[in-house]
Amino acid sequence: MKNCAIVGINWGDEGKGRMVDLLTQDYDVVVRYQGGGNAGHTVINEHGKFALHLLPSGIFRPGVVNILGNGVALDLASLWTEIENVAEKGVPITPDNLKISDRASLVLPWHIALDELEEHRLKDKKYGSTKQGIAPFYSDKYQKKTIQAGELFYPDYLARHLKDLLEWKNLTLTGVYDAQPYTTEMLCEYLHDYGNKLKPFICDTGNWLRSAQAEGKSILFEAQLGALRDLDYGIYPYTTSSNAIAAYAPVGSGLPSAKLDEVVGVVKAYSTCVGEGPFVCEWFGSEAEKLREAGFEYGAKTGRPRRVGPIDIVATRYGVQTQGATTIALTKLDVLSCMDQIPVCTKYVVNGMETERFPFPAALADAKPVIEYLEGWGCDISTVRTWDALPKQAQAYVEYIEQVIECHIGYVSVGPERDAYIKR
Ligand code: GDP
Repeated sequence: MKNCAIVGINWGDEGKGRMVDLLTQDYDVVVRYQGGGNAGHTVINEHGKFALHLLPSGIFRPGVVNILGNGVALDLASLWTEIENVAEKGVPITPDNLKISDRASLVLPWHIALDELEEHRLKDKKYGSTKQGIAPFYSDKYQKKTIQAGELFYPDYLARHLKDLLEWKNLTLTGVYDAQPYTTEMLCEYLHDYGNKLKPFICDTGNWLRSAQAEGKSILFEAQLGALRDLDYGIYPYTTSSNAIAAYAPVGSGLPSAKLDEVVGVVKAYSTCVGEGPFVCEWFGSEAEKLREAGFEYGAKTGRPRRVGPIDIVATRYGVQTQGATTIALTKLDVLSCMDQIPVCTKYVVNGMETERFPFPAALADAKPVIEYLEGWGCDISTVRTWDALPKQAQAYVEYIEQVIECHIGYVSVGPERDAYIKR
């Protein structure tokens, strides 16, 4: 039996979904342990191209059981739409291969409304939310003011609980934001409609996982965002509202006693960041445009152009340490074929001093990148499948990165398709 977490080392969008889709061939179970439908994991395989938002990326593998753990933000409406869209392309999704934790809390329509209202209030100081209700949802969860999925099986209890929450939530909606209140009927209709559709998938997944572990099944934990967006360790407050790091995987999955045998950290061969917040090595103008186009850097969920720049060694080394990565999957190396020289941000200058240490978030705004260049390889590498066939300059780039981030690079991805990678 082995347990492995696949996590992002940077700001997200590193290609985690692509790596989970690839590596699930060796696992029996895939668990999403945090976050909601606010990100998108792109997967390309024999069924087509998908942007998965809440469904675990093991959903395409026959025989793999996919679990949405207690740590996720469970939006019943968007999950149902996603299930329908994926099933339409011939992927079977049944209670046998998808299980939802009865302890997962529900994102309710008022969370989405409040996310929108607060971003609107913040104007140019906004956090860059995807407006899926995630921040209001997790705030409510920590205030113990959410509904757990399992309550759908206890209608009388649910009705009383909903009434109390509604009374409280409407105070904020009408008093703070001058917005329309919700009514019991609106909420009951919503929960009735989607609850009935999704109830067959909801069960005690903690119990199921304990049995799976006892039977020696191997479990893959799938993170939703990168280390730098982690609530506690990221670029607060421009983080997500949950813990995306590997250490949280056992807690958010429903198997708090799980030990991780392996942590695969996914790093992009250059940097991208979607939304607001400090991004030290950001490029602007035509240089940025060229890299953005070469890597097709547009958000899988929102279509927003991603901010781009050279690989940031300072941030990446910090991400590797924070995740406790045991091996790295370096993705999108093929995209760098468009450059004659490959830029690398090796250090920051903060307050006139060079540093290799990732600074406290408030100091990031004034940090400046120190850029060095490595030789480019000047040819297409997207069909290369072995290490020896990679141009020596590309090998040198990979070897340089692994040396400075202090973690072995076990996989090099050279295309979005399942088989477009090199194992080292
Ligand atoms: P995730 O959220 O970490 O799963 O990443 P996203 O799906 O948001 O973004 C990664 C993007 O890069 C997707 O469009 C993938 O299809 C694509 N991708 C992943 N690996 C590679 C690669 O090695 N080369 C290229 N060209 N594209 C890749």
